[in-house]
Amino acid sequence: MMDETTVVIRARGLVAEVKPTEIPVPIEAYLNHVGATLRVEDDLEEDEAGFSFQSNGKWYIGVNGNDREERQRFTICHELAHIVLQLPSEHKASPWWSYMKRPKTEILCDVFAAELLLPFRLFQPLAEGMAISFTSIDELAARFMASRTATGSRFATVIKAPCAFVLSEQGKVRYAARSTSLREASAWIPPRRDIPAGSVSGRLRAGEKNLVAEAIDAEDWFNDWDRGGTLMEEARYHSEWDQTLTLLSFEDEEIPPPSWAPPRLSEEDELLPELDGVLRFKSKKGR
Ligand SMILES: [Zn+2]
Repeated sequence: MMDETTVVIRARGLVAEVKPTEIPVPIEAYLNHVGATLRVEDDLEEDEAGFSFQSNGKWYIGVNGNDREERQRFTICHELAHIVLQLPSEHKASPWWSYMKRPKTEILCDVFAAELLLPFRLFQPLAEGMAISFTSIDELAARFMASRTATGSRFATVIKAPCAFVLSEQGKVRYAARSTSLREASAWIPPRRDIPAGSVSGRLRAGEKNLVAEAIDAEDWFNDWDRGGTLMEEARYHSEWDQTLTLLSFEDEEIPPPSWAPPRLSEEDELLPELDGVLRFKSKKGR
């Protein structure tokens, strides 16, 4: 079975060959490079986003013409993934919008599609310069003509600050995209765990209104977390699909050090003379 890293490398290889420079990225360039012909279909079922097939040695991609353009772009890139990675479609298992019981190959094709739509070289510098918020994600999604979900996952993955973007369905986590810094700190949000009841995400789903962002203990979201710290949590709830999108970041964009490690002097502390012989450390405990 192919893994996610391989998929990302293959996708970035294709992006490097096509070298898109415009935003939004022109999808035709990818289609031409792969040698696939696009057919916009107007009679597909509402839940059928697209398909691909080979005929007389030529690849065709069908896309649901009734979907919004942003959705069509994602579908085309997803189908390109099936062709390039030679992964068979399993579109009958669940509708395109659902993450429940989504087959692994379909998730891998989504990862590939996000790499094509939001190329690292174009997306990362823009994301890095923006505040960690849904406002930034929505702005980038509009610019790149990508979905909020794909853009949010990509946003959390590429920025340097500790950040996670979580997609939950029916109250359970389905997918959590994390920045490298969070992954290195083992800040783990396991799939299928329940959304924390007292969180913004949990309360929005429970019907609370006028709730956007709030602080929450990091241990409420991360499994076996003993570093303490406070997260800023922002969330959006889509009742039609019972889906919750959650954006998590550390208040001061810094992960507290592990509890077992010796405290590290900050540059500021090192410059100060020891006035009373007692070393002082910046403590994050007194929240
Ligand atoms: Zn597929």
